[in-house]
Amino acid sequence: MRIGVLGAMPEEVSSITTLLTRPTPRHLGGREFIGGRLASHDICVVHSRIGKVAAAAAAVELIARLGVEQIVFVGVAGGLAPQICTGDIVVADRLAQHDLDASPLFPPLEIPLTGRTHLPTDPAIRACLRAAAERFLAEEGSVLTPHQAPSRPPRVHTGEVATGDQFIGNAAARDRVRALLPGALCVEMEGAAVAQVCDEYAVPCGVARLISDDADDHAAQHFSRSLEQAAGLCAAGIIRRYIEWL
Ligand code: SAH
Repeated sequence: MRIGVLGAMPEEVSSITTLLTRPTPRHLGGREFIGGRLASHDICVVHSRIGKVAAAAAAVELIARLGVEQIVFVGVAGGLAPQICTGDIVVADRLAQHDLDASPLFPPLEIPLTGRTHLPTDPAIRACLRAAAERFLAEEGSVLTPHQAPSRPPRVHTGEVATGDQFIGNAAARDRVRALLPGALCVEMEGAAVAQVCDEYAVPCGVARLISDDADDHAAQHFSRSLEQAAGLCAAGIIRRYIEWL
């Protein structure tokens, strides 16, 4: 199978490209797409950069020009729900854009002219991502160093993810996202855009996020530490197992 793998940060993407045999770069639309083989699949890895437009543009190239048959996004996110701790992994079952509001023409959060607020991920991909994330935590999870004294070992959760073009790094911003999407487990800046592109092209997708911070006043500091210490390892650890089990 031909699989597209997206990450927003160079730390995540470079750890995945080291898994590939015969990595071959190609430049399209200002981005580097690295093709290669992993466990008898054709993989194309791209550093999308941060935010919805960047992620959507990278996803379109993967599908329309590079012919991938599915897309998996891996990255970090800020925890929103009380059961989510830093070091946990969230696998998205559906995603919505917390900053999308064309009211009064359309209800807040609704993607104009589609009648939809949330877009789903593919059930088979998320089941396999969940299994890969669980195995990663069991085998390598001790390297994830939560910022608070860990009250319990890290866990994998499946659920709703909120996306928007904002880094959520204070209590007021976090509470705004929680009020708009009370079911969301975490917040990030790319997932719903990738899910929308995949929906439009009928390409199955999955999103897995390591919780780097709690989207609170310490978020920027915790995010940077997680990126340094854990994000690359986690991205590669999940993707390697995911692809091997496909
Ligand atoms: N200062 C950083 C920018 C990080 S943006 C830099 O210069 O590189 C945060 C990235 O991590 C985004 O790709 C987003 O998807 C994810 N993320 C992690 N925690 C987040 C949070 N609290 N709010 C929004 N996005 C978050």
